[in-house]
Amino acid sequence: MTFIPYDDRDGWIWMDGEFKPWREAKVHVLTHGLHYGSSIFEGERAYDGQIFESLLHTERLFRSAEILGMKPAFTVADIESAKAEAMARNGFENCYIRPVMWRGSEMMGVSAQQSTIRAAVAVWEWGNYFADKMSGIRMTHAKWRRPDPKTAPCEAKAAGLYMICTDSKHAAEAEGYADALMLDWRGHVAEATGANVFFIQDGAIHTPVPDCFLNGITRQTVIRLARDKGYEVVERTIMPEELGNFSECFITGTAAEVTPVKEIAGIHYQPGRVCEDMVHTYDALVRGKHA
Ligand code: PMP
Repeated sequence: MTFIPYDDRDGWIWMDGEFKPWREAKVHVLTHGLHYGSSIFEGERAYDGQIFESLLHTERLFRSAEILGMKPAFTVADIESAKAEAMARNGFENCYIRPVMWRGSEMMGVSAQQSTIRAAVAVWEWGNYFADKMSGIRMTHAKWRRPDPKTAPCEAKAAGLYMICTDSKHAAEAEGYADALMLDWRGHVAEATGANVFFIQDGAIHTPVPDCFLNGITRQTVIRLARDKGYEVVERTIMPEELGNFSECFITGTAAEVTPVKEIAGIHYQPGRVCEDMVHTYDALVRGKHA
């Protein structure tokens, strides 16, 4: 596979209130966000020119900022218009949108009280998050667990929380799997490394309670769609010993959309009627074709 590095592309990136040529949207190596993980971000997708749940994502960005005590110089309205203009300037109708905010370079210790809060919005064309999305992905158990909410600000979409996700995903990929299923600090089933997880048992849809991981916008959307369609959706504690009791499994996220899962560490699922239904129902909704 050939990669075009993200810093070696053309286009426009909104940065701190203005549009910069893509290659000039740089930060200095002495940046607090880089050294201490003091960065928050969003991941969004636009379909046919419309960003799905744009405002909810921007509001979550500002909620993440608030949780980490960051006071951005920009408003929700500023970021909303930056996202729309970034799409227009780059000429994308179907793309991924990445707003990010981080502590700048004024201070380089743990304390960064005087550092400015920097902000950027980039957009790029991004197809399926998983190459084998429709046939179902293979997952294994993750190397790391989701931390106790007393240990980390788990409601924030904060860059620092992704350290264990990248490391878990790399370990899974090294063994030939596409992703990893993370347990939480108690040993309950939590989520994938960048997506929430659902299981099907006797026609009902079961999913873990999001009390120590992101309650994804896609997760909430899929729960609503499933209930509208008459499925019973049960949010409950799910133990890893139960993984063999389910017939189908899928994960949800902005990037992953609804992705069927065909294996978790030797336990096999047959992506079937419920997976297919939710993949298509979600797709119809985000493309504005939901009945
Ligand atoms: N959990 C994690 C760790 C994620 O990175 C994501 C993607 N943002 C999700 C869940 C799903 O969130 P959403 O549906 O809002 O994209």
